[in-house]
Parts: sequence; C-alpha cells; structure tokens
Amino acid sequence: MALSDHRTKKALGQHFLHDPGIVSKIVQAVSPQPGDRLVEIGPGAGAITFPLLERHGSLTAIEFDRDLIEPLRAAAAGVGELEVVHADVLDVDLTALAGGGRIRLVGNLPYNLSSPILFHVLAHRAVVQDMHFMLQKEVVDRMGAAPGSKVYGRLSVMLQAVCAVAPLIRVPPGAFRPPPKVDSAVVRLVPRADAEIGIEDGRLFANVVRAAFGQRRKTLRNALMPICDADAIAAAGIDPGARAETVPVGGFVALANHLAASR
Ligand code: SAM
Repeated sequence: MALSDHRTKKALGQHFLHDPGIVSKIVQAVSPQPGDRLVEIGPGAGAITFPLLERHGSLTAIEFDRDLIEPLRAAAAGVGELEVVHADVLDVDLTALAGGGRIRLVGNLPYNLSSPILFHVLAHRAVVQDMHFMLQKEVVDRMGAAPGSKVYGRLSVMLQAVCAVAPLIRVPPGAFRPPPKVDSAVVRLVPRADAEIGIEDGRLFANVVRAAFGQRRKTLRNALMPICDADAIAAAGIDPGARAETVPVGGFVALANHLAASR
C-alpha cells in the first residue's frame, strides 16, 4: 500500500499535514546541521519526514501505526537513510537511542497523547538538544505564558524551569487532513543545562508548584499551607499574600530551594 492510500485513524490522533508552506517553515525552524541526529515522533505519511530527509540525508522516525511502517521504508528508498522504529514512543528509551550523543526531536504530536509524550521526553532531556513540536495552540500558549497572564500556570512554570520555550508558527486547522477542531502551533523547546536551572530538589519543586496552582484563587499563604508557612514564603523573597499566577519561575525555584535548605 502506498502512503497516499493510507486512511487516517482518529484513535491515533492522525491529522496529516497538507500545507507545503507550513512544512517548509518547520524545516527552516529545525534547520538541520551536519552531524545532527534527527528523531521524529509520529511521521505519519511523512509530510515532515521526507523534506527533512531530503535536506539532511538521515533520520530516525518512531511510528506506532503498523500500517505505515513498510510504506514509509519503501518511500525512503533513494531519498536518504530513514530508520523507522515501530513502537509506542512512550516505550522508547530515548537515552539509549541517542547512543551517547544528543538528539534533535521533531514531531507533529498526536494531541491526545501530547502531555505524556512531553513528560517522557523531558525525563530524557539530558540527551535532547532541542525539540520542535506541533501541539494545540492553547497548550503552546500555556507553555510560553509569562507571570500575570491568564494562562500562566503549572505547565508554564514546570516547563520554563527546565526549557527555554519559543512559540514559532501558528497553524490553522485547514493545514491538516482531516482538520482538527482546534488551532495548532509549533513550539521550540531547548532544555536548559542543570547548573542553569538551579533546582536543588526536583520533587519538592514539583510539589510546591502543584500546591501553589492547585488553589489558583487562594493566596500563596493559604495554598501552600500544607507545605510551608508564610515566613518561609517571605524568606524566599515572595509576598505570601500574592497569588501563584503572579510569581515568576525563579520565585518558585527560590522557595523550593529555601525549603530544601531548611530541612
Ligand atoms: N507527522 C505526520 C504529519 O505531520 O502529517 C503525522 C502527524 S499525526 C498528528 C501523529 C502521528 O503520531 C500519527 O502518524 C500517529 O500514528 C502517530 N502516533 C500516535 N500515537 C503514537 C505513539 N504512541 N507513538 C508513536 N507514534 C504515535
């Protein structure tokens, strides 16, 4: 079966890109350099895969849909070295895949799985040079939001603490077949070096952020009551009467580190 004959599967989040202008913007954004190790999550019928392969010469693609595996391999003949891994990306050990080097991830992600995929990838971020992901625009907005914005929340803080976040390209539903119900956007995520992050205890940091945003309407003094008192919040340089949505990422890092140090 040819890739063009593939019937898309809703359960696998298959919305295939059909807009060459958007594809070329994604390839430009990735801008592969000699020696880069490109890994695509969910190549589908290859809308992004083949333009990247033509430009770069090699790519590893991880696809869950068995019907696409052989057609992808066949279509790559004469274009470049395409390694197609038939797997659920959540089961793929990206650190092992990187083989001691670093990988650059690309993917128009299945939206129903975008959060688990993101957390899986972040768990392997030590071997990830950068990521270019197509996601629901609303998710990208939350990822990149600044303190004080209506959509600044737990995702913004948890992600910005470990990655530089750059929303790049807005993509309308008409760019896909079948069109999704929502707008999409491409975001670039670049993991920060651990030294730059400065989080002493990742679990404590996650607990503080979860508690702070769990009760959005409450002041930090009240929302963080199960974890610490107002003095600890003030000692980290944060007004205990403030709400979580006004506190910058560095404030949460300072608070978690203050609590880690005083244990
Ligand atoms: N990259 C293609 C494009 O832009 O046209 C397809 C994108 S489509 C939104 C998402 C792709 O991810 C589909 O090919 C789907 O089969 C694949 N996929 C879904 N769940 C997956 C999983 N758990 N692991 C790997 N691939 C998956």
